[in-house]
Amino acid sequence: MAELNPFKIAQAQFDEAAERLGLAAPMREFLRWPQREYHVTLPVRMDNGSSRVFHGYRVQYNSSRGPTKGGLRWHPDETIDTVRALSAWMTWKTAVVDIPLGGGKGGVTCNPKELTATEQERLARAYIRAVGRVLGVTKDVPAPDVYTNPQIMGWMMDEYETLVGESHPGVITGKPLTLGGSKGRGDATARGGVYCVREAGKLLGIDWDGATYAVQGFGNAGQFGATLHREILGNSKLVAASDSRGGVYCKDGFDPQELVRYKKSNGSLAGYPGSEAMTNEQLLELDVDCLYPSALENVITDKNAKNVKARLICELANGPTTPEADRILFENGKIVLPDFMANAGGVTVSYFEQVQNTYNYYWDLELVHQRLDRKMTDAFHAVWQTAAEAKVHMRLAAYLVAVQRVARAVQDRGWL
Ligand code: NAD
Repeated sequence: MAELNPFKIAQAQFDEAAERLGLAAPMREFLRWPQREYHVTLPVRMDNGSSRVFHGYRVQYNSSRGPTKGGLRWHPDETIDTVRALSAWMTWKTAVVDIPLGGGKGGVTCNPKELTATEQERLARAYIRAVGRVLGVTKDVPAPDVYTNPQIMGWMMDEYETLVGESHPGVITGKPLTLGGSKGRGDATARGGVYCVREAGKLLGIDWDGATYAVQGFGNAGQFGATLHREILGNSKLVAASDSRGGVYCKDGFDPQELVRYKKSNGSLAGYPGSEAMTNEQLLELDVDCLYPSALENVITDKNAKNVKARLICELANGPTTPEADRILFENGKIVLPDFMANAGGVTVSYFEQVQNTYNYYWDLELVHQRLDRKMTDAFHAVWQTAAEAKVHMRLAAYLVAVQRVARAVQDRGWL
């Protein structure tokens, strides 16, 4: 469906902000498209001696505020338009948390669940051989996203360093700690989102003790969202969680750590003792205080938005809500903490990782948390204040803050 094409959605969201900001036509045209994109075709040897060919992408959306930055997604449904959308959101994300980076994104169309570890390693290295020349600490820096992880980042960094013949740990972030990863990167995306929930809760007068929450998508972002919500905010009840195979519900609440352990040992949440099965769709409509969409795009649409009961929605996933759904949620008084603000903790600690790599001097965990908290809290309040002043929803407010900053950098460079 054209209206669910993530890049069309990203452009429509941008257009609304550009209109409100009164941006001149050339600036609008420039900022609604990527500056550069690369399509690569990757031959990879399988363990059984056969070969397969994969299609990959790297999009450098906008570098006016610094080198482009953004994750790599390995997913069967990956398309150039998904990558373009994610790279646009990265541009607004680095701007809204005010770090000196641009936005980019990459991906490979594949199902990593069907690949062995050695096949994944060969794919990771093939991708870097194909795009390595356009990457670099001063050019474009990848990181993990859906179905990629620190091990894959480690292989990619090694391949890059082999190509250029010198040490460049900052070429990629989300690496294992042994290879220059930052403390605190693993849970940074969710932690940043929970800091935003904490700030919103203070302003809305939510008492988290005894409150309820649900998490859709139980990967890196969702699992840490589930555990950190309780760790940071107090004794709320996690009543539901889901993954690609469906969800589980328990009205008395799960122990999030136990649920994480179960997912790790069983590969899915299905059949968790004492739980009822629940679909992903049902989970989104639960009457909870806070909902964390933490899987993929377009899960809250004009079809189900009117049934969403959560008062606060913290988008750890990118693009879970369509523009029409945004309007419905806003009319219904729901507060959406929008993706490129709420999940910016990941790129913020990735930026800290790069800084540490450049200095070759590493911070302790407490300092990472302190600095992340400061960035997220500042971003949240800038967006909240803009929303109140302009009388718009939080996503549009986040766009107003971010697009203004990027447009200003484009102007200051003299590009337009
Ligand atoms: P991940 O691969 O660790 O986990 C993805 C999870 O989503 C898995 O549990 C999977 O089972 C589940 N899932 C997949 N399809 C689903 C479906 N149709 N319904 C319900 N669940 C489904 O990925 P991640 O890194 O946690 O990323 C999740 C989201 O967070 C993505 O939108 C990603 O772009 C966004 N994000 C991640 C980071 C990061 O640092 N990892 C940073 C910013 C944003």
